[in-house]
Amino acid sequence: MYFVLFTVIVFVLLWICQIFFLEHFYERMKVNDVSEVAGELTDAYTRLDSEDFSELLSNAAVKHDLCVEVVDSNNRSVYSKEVLGDCLIHGRGSSTYIFVERIMRSSSDEIYYKIKNPRTNYDMLLYGCKIENDSGPDYFLLINTALVPVGSTVTIIKRQLGIITALLIIVAFLISLYVSNRIAEPITKITHDAANLAKGDFSTRFDGTGYLESNQLADALNYAEKELSKVDTMQRDLIANVSHDLRTPLTMLKAYAEMIRDLSGDNPQKRGEHLEIIINETDRLALLVNDMLDLSKIESGKQKLNCSEFDINSKMHEIVDRFKGVSEKMGYNIHLISDSERVVCCDVVKIEQVIYNLINNAINYTGDDKQVFVRQINKPDGVLIEIEDTGDGIEEDKIKLIFDKYYRSENHKREVVGTGLGLSIVKAVLKLHGFDYGVNSVLGKGSTFWFKIDDSHFTDKQVHLN
Ligand code: ADP
Repeated sequence: MYFVLFTVIVFVLLWICQIFFLEHFYERMKVNDVSEVAGELTDAYTRLDSEDFSELLSNAAVKHDLCVEVVDSNNRSVYSKEVLGDCLIHGRGSSTYIFVERIMRSSSDEIYYKIKNPRTNYDMLLYGCKIENDSGPDYFLLINTALVPVGSTVTIIKRQLGIITALLIIVAFLISLYVSNRIAEPITKITHDAANLAKGDFSTRFDGTGYLESNQLADALNYAEKELSKVDTMQRDLIANVSHDLRTPLTMLKAYAEMIRDLSGDNPQKRGEHLEIIINETDRLALLVNDMLDLSKIESGKQKLNCSEFDINSKMHEIVDRFKGVSEKMGYNIHLISDSERVVCCDVVKIEQVIYNLINNAINYTGDDKQVFVRQINKPDGVLIEIEDTGDGIEEDKIKLIFDKYYRSENHKREVVGTGLGLSIVKAVLKLHGFDYGVNSVLGKGSTFWFKIDDSHFTDKQVHLN
């Protein structure tokens, strides 16, 4: 519709200019032409001798189809050239005389007016101006040219324009029909597919074949769909995992609470054991909820790093000491092999949690010798932290999975307190810092989890305490 409207407007403008104003345009053009020639002649008069001027005047008259005459104030012709053959000047009738009179009376330098030739009834343009004459009284330059009637031209143009207008409106209509279909078709299709997606059908494929923008829109929507479907799967997994992880301790809580009520209420020893289980299961629940909260905070991107400078060596001692108290009672041996003191710059709370989670896993999964090795290795561009256990190791194909949320190997022991979130938190924190991390594992021998506190960007401030 807009395209057709545009075509119509273009033609309306064309009609107005060509048909209604053509005569006016034509006259203005003629006046400009004549006044330009007059300017050239008046200029030349003072410069050229009479022969050259006469030649210039003749040439101008022939070139522009004019009658040109220079008369003195007594209306006597000084130079003249007649091309039209039917001029109003050149002493014919009284018009030259009247004309000269008018120039003399006029306040401006030049005058022109339209006049009807009484013999032919055609319109003619009369132009006149003064020429300064140093040797005597001023001369007058008179120019006369025919104004060709534009009526017939207008009729021709009208017919031509009529046909072109009709043709172009039809063509514009057809092109617009084609273009609008081409633009609308992929969008209609995409809209329809988007409605399917909104209903939760993640198998919808957006197809924008047609043109660049529709393709881009389809690509963007396909991408959005992929992301949405990922979120959807994640949400389902999360609910499945969380409900599973919550159900087990809750069932146990209920079972032991019922046992206390029905059986062991009066038996202090049994009651104590059952209460202990209830407390342990509550801890497990609290751990799960805390891990979930931590991870969701980091992953939502709302948590910013709160970097500070600290000595990694004393931090490692502090963490390992904290473990020692509990784990040594259960027969675990945690060996800290540390390098010299070294100041690093990172989020101390989060990195502490990473080390804590890794040591916790090492204790949980280490072999029967219950040995865990924690190493701090200073490197020129950072500090390498390694946590090694002597457990069963991790199969090659599982290594990729263990850092995923809620991944827990099927054969983990029930006594291993874990949520399947520990390594996800490790990964999220280290990625947030931009630190490298990984695991080297040999089946049957054990695993070494490592990460590197990269302080290459911190070297100018680096302080070695010893
Ligand atoms: P959780 O330990 O709570 O199950 P994690 O995210 O910390 O959850 O670990 C995911 C899985 O990776 C564990 O279930 C276990 O199978 C494996 N894993 C982690 N650390 C070790 C380790 N030191 N040795 C062997 N397997 C490990």
